[in-house]
Amino acid sequence: MNKRPLYFDYAATTPVDERVIKIMVECLGFDGNFGNPASSSHAFGQQARQSVEQARRQVAELVGATPEQIVWTSGATESNNLALKGVAQARGSACGHLITSQIEHKAILDTARQLQDSGVAVTYLVPDADGLITAQAVSDAMREDTFLVSLMLVNNELGTVNDIPAIGQVVRERNALFHVDAAQGAGKVAIDLAQWPVDLMSFSAHKLYGPKGIGALYVGPRAHQRLLAQIHGGGHEGGLRSGTLATHQIAAMGAAFALAAASFHEEKALIVRLRERLLEQLLSIPGVRLNGSLTRRIPHTLSLTFSEGEFNSAALLASMAFSATSACNSASNAPSHVLLALGHDARTASRTIRLSLGRFTTEQDIDQAVQLIKSACASAPAFWQ
Ligand SMILES: *Cc1c(COP(=O)(O)O)cnc(C)c1O
Repeated sequence: MNKRPLYFDYAATTPVDERVIKIMVECLGFDGNFGNPASSSHAFGQQARQSVEQARRQVAELVGATPEQIVWTSGATESNNLALKGVAQARGSACGHLITSQIEHKAILDTARQLQDSGVAVTYLVPDADGLITAQAVSDAMREDTFLVSLMLVNNELGTVNDIPAIGQVVRERNALFHVDAAQGAGKVAIDLAQWPVDLMSFSAHKLYGPKGIGALYVGPRAHQRLLAQIHGGGHEGGLRSGTLATHQIAAMGAAFALAAASFHEEKALIVRLRERLLEQLLSIPGVRLNGSLTRRIPHTLSLTFSEGEFNSAALLASMAFSATSACNSASNAPSHVLLALGHDARTASRTIRLSLGRFTTEQDIDQAVQLIKSACASAPAFWQ
């Protein structure tokens, strides 16, 4: 049997933690917690409801929210759609102004385009050279009719961290709502929604050792009356998102978020050590450049551009899983919109890789990856020119 490639693509998705799998499986069979959480009249439903509510507390706890502020969705894509379309439609007027950035995830960019088609004016902020959106840039873009600002906490390609509290201050002064896509930030950056001036925040389980197909939207007090449901039928989740609650997915997301809270500092210290080991060795390759701020970043995600010549990433991918841009852009094979926004051209973008580390990365993985990357450089004849 072929050896499995090394996994350096935690930013695309993570394996489900074994402890989470155990909890998930317990919600499926006849001997388990399989009831419909909406069947409040009998024990099966009540037990399922308890699991759902415990998970809601666990998710809320990691991010400093209260359980009632957490709405279950099918993932961060749906959370982003609900936030943007829900706020736009609740205004009852097709016009108005939305601010976002050029380096958001496609789940924001495609949704913003959709709103543009229905008459909303959209500003796509350009990141600074560090890959960050500053509070000043947001302040400068605010208009009288700006009703929503949507920016990410952590960029999925660069690993850079926006100053969300500072930006939120600016947004609040102008009385607009502030949505934050935190799919890459939850469990990696300390989030405190009790203090942060943020009205809506999107989460995903599968970026944090939970299963795919489940996520949540935080809906704060300022947003609650200014958000229209996008999925109707049954009035689940306070009418904001109908559909039978997926107990196994939800319990698993709760467990994954609780694990992230419990191991937050320890895990961060581990990833920082691994990142130092990786970066130190890779930056010794002539001409390698790290994209995005050196200081405002999570240690998990690195975007590296190699110098002139062919970087033999096809050969490398056989022994090591990483992202040539981001998983989402890889699907469309276009140069990364994030790198283009940072001033790369298609050629340097094509010599860029994203390496992302996680809970199961070892020192051996790091050292093997360095060897593989160095030989991928060496096997590309033009590379050293
Ligand atoms: C992965 C990701 C999403 C999409 O999340 P899903 O749960 O897969 O729909 C949205 N935004 C960012 C920043 C992401 O990294």
